Order: sequence, then C-alpha cells, then structure tokens
Amino acid sequence: MTIGILGGGQLGYMLALAGYPLGLHFRFLDPSPEAPVGRIAQRVTADYTDQAALEKFSSGLELVTYEFENVPVEAANFLAERVPVYPPPAALEAAQDRLAEKGLFRKLGIATTEFTPVSNPGELHAAVKTLGLPAVLKTSRMGYDGKGQWILRTAEDVVKAKSELPPVKMILERFVTFTRELSVLAVRSRNGETAIYPLVENHHRNGILRLSLAPAPRLDVEIQRPAERAAQRILESLKYVGVLAIEFFEHQGELLANEMAPRVHNSGHWTIEGAVTSQFENHLRAVLGLPLGSTGPAGHCAMLNLIGDLPESAEVLAVPDAHLHLYGKSPRPGRKLGHVTLRAASPERLALRLSELPAFFHRPDFCLDAALVAPSASLRA
Ligand code: AMP
Repeated sequence: MTIGILGGGQLGYMLALAGYPLGLHFRFLDPSPEAPVGRIAQRVTADYTDQAALEKFSSGLELVTYEFENVPVEAANFLAERVPVYPPPAALEAAQDRLAEKGLFRKLGIATTEFTPVSNPGELHAAVKTLGLPAVLKTSRMGYDGKGQWILRTAEDVVKAKSELPPVKMILERFVTFTRELSVLAVRSRNGETAIYPLVENHHRNGILRLSLAPAPRLDVEIQRPAERAAQRILESLKYVGVLAIEFFEHQGELLANEMAPRVHNSGHWTIEGAVTSQFENHLRAVLGLPLGSTGPAGHCAMLNLIGDLPESAEVLAVPDAHLHLYGKSPRPGRKLGHVTLRAASPERLALRLSELPAFFHRPDFCLDAALVAPSASLRA
C-alpha cells in the first residue's frame, strides 16, 4: 500500500518513518531536488502545478496527504478527482488564508485575536484607528515562521507600512500581550473517531518555534477543555481527516486562536517519544481509517529545534533521556535541520536533564530559561 505525500520536508520524512512499521510505502512530490525524503522514499521532483507530473504521481496510490500547507488547492482538487485526498482540500483552503481562517474561528464561536482586512493604505489607516497600536500587519496568504509580518508600534511605523504596503490582501491584528503561546494537536479519522493531545507550551525566536514543553506546564482543565472544544468544532465542521494543529495565545486566562495548520506540526514532534502514539502514526491511522492510538503523554518533554547549525551528536546523546533527530538537510541560516527531545519522568527530572545539555544549547535563542521550570534544589545540585 503506497501513500502519496505532497511536500518532501522533515514532516514528510517523519511521517514515512512512522509508517514503515505499519507496512506502508511512500511516494513524495516536491519541487526541490534537495527534499530530504529522497533518502528514504520514492520522490517525484516536479512543481505542484505540473498536471502531467501530478497524474503520474497519483498512479497506483492508496490516498494522498500533505505535509506542507501551501500546496496549491488546485493541485489537491486535481488529485482528489483521482484518489482520496486527506485532509479535505477545503481545510487547506481555509488554512492558507489568515482572513478565511479567522473568519472560520469566528463562525464557530472560537475566540480569536481581533482583526480587520486591509488591502490599501486607506484601509490600513482605518484599521489602525479601530484596533489601536501596537498591531500586527500580516500578509493574508503565504506567511509562515514570522515571514510576511510587521509589528506596528508607532505612528511612524504606520506611515512607513502605508508607503511600503505590498499589493496583496493583508490582515491587521490587535497585538496580544499574551502570557504564553500554546498549541493543541487533534486528530480525526476517516470513520469520525477523534483524539486530542494535551496542550503544548511554545517559545519562538524571530517568529520561528524554538522550544516546546509538553504537556504544557501548569496545565489545568480550565484551558485544556476550551482547546479541545475549539479543535472538535473545527474537526467536525470541515469533516476533517488527519492531524490538525491549532495555535493559541493565552491571554488573561483565556485562549485566543491565532492560526491552524492542516497537517502534522512542529509543536507535536515531542509525541514521537513523549506520547503513547506519535502525531505521525496517528495521522496515518486517521487517513487510512484505522483505529486511533492513545494521545496520552508518556512523561514530561522538552523539544528543542536545531535551526541553522547542529551540535555534536555525541554531546547530545551523552545526556540521559535525550533523543536526536536529524533531517538530512544541509545547514543554512534559519533552516530547521533537526530537533532534540528530552523525555523525563517528572518536571524536576526534565529540568535537570535540560541543565545537562551541552553549551551549544545554553545560547539565549534556545529559550532554556523558560524550560527550567522550578527544578527542586536537590535534583539541581
Ligand atoms: P504567526 O505566523 O501568526 O504564527 O505569528 C508568528 C509569531 O508572531 C507568533 O507565534 C507570535 O509570537 C507572534 N504574533 C503573531 N500574531 C500576533 C499578535 N496578534 N499579537 C502578538 N504576537 C503575535
């Protein structure tokens, strides 16, 4: 049984690794000849808009899924006429456009950041008047990892943004002074079964995820429940199939949905070692209509992204409870090259293990301070 995956980056790589024990085969389509999955699976190198290549790619596949949410919806629809495509292309469409996405949150009664569409300097002026400063201006489409967004703090920032406004649909959001950022991963199977992982606490630097703590420290039902309700509403309304990630701001004890991703997610990498069933395996179970696995945590985890450069493997692996994942990509500034997950039996033990990481991780951009959650004195000694 061969599964087709659109996008050949690390998410696809880890999906395939989770699928091999289930006896699955994989075929990837990615425009880049450097896509890391080439090392472990069949890879078709072609543009997503190349219909002849899509046709060839889909031949003999059981189904198609994606690991990259900016796959053109037309490509997903073209494939859906030939093989089942999960998650449904409608989910891809909603997630690709911040305005559509926030519109969906609103429609489903999910609290979200206040926002206004902006497509010219006059509208920006009016939007700033309504929402006030600071505010965040984002391109409605094709933004990720903090790209395509500007924080407007002062009247001068607004003047500058007006004069440099790109000729695309944009969104202005109220700046949220959040206490922390959280995400939830939910999964719905072809037969309607659903399961939800515990909330994860995320720390970003320059718009890129650096550290996830899972389950989120100080996690109580008062915030887990609303996250689950939000996820269930989206899953049901889209008749979703597969893993869905939703990112939230925690603000005055409440969750505000920021965005969603219709795919496995970086803030779910901890589930490989830290949950009974990983997000990757559960995504595959869901799209195949197999029973879902438990989303229960199997310890306390910290996941650290390796961005731009890599530590010495031996130094990482010398730390008990550390697991290293390298994606086989060549180093480049800002590029996600791998991740490390530490899994421990208690938050105190996790803090101890984090403090034992080599010097490479003690740079401020790894956000380790945030992870060293109240370790007990005896364990730290
Ligand atoms: P996004 O691409 O929407 O996930 O934004 C990237 C990061 O920018 C988020 O993880 C936040 O740290 C920050 N950010 C985005 N939107 C807002 C907002 N409305 N208020 C405050 N911070 C934001």
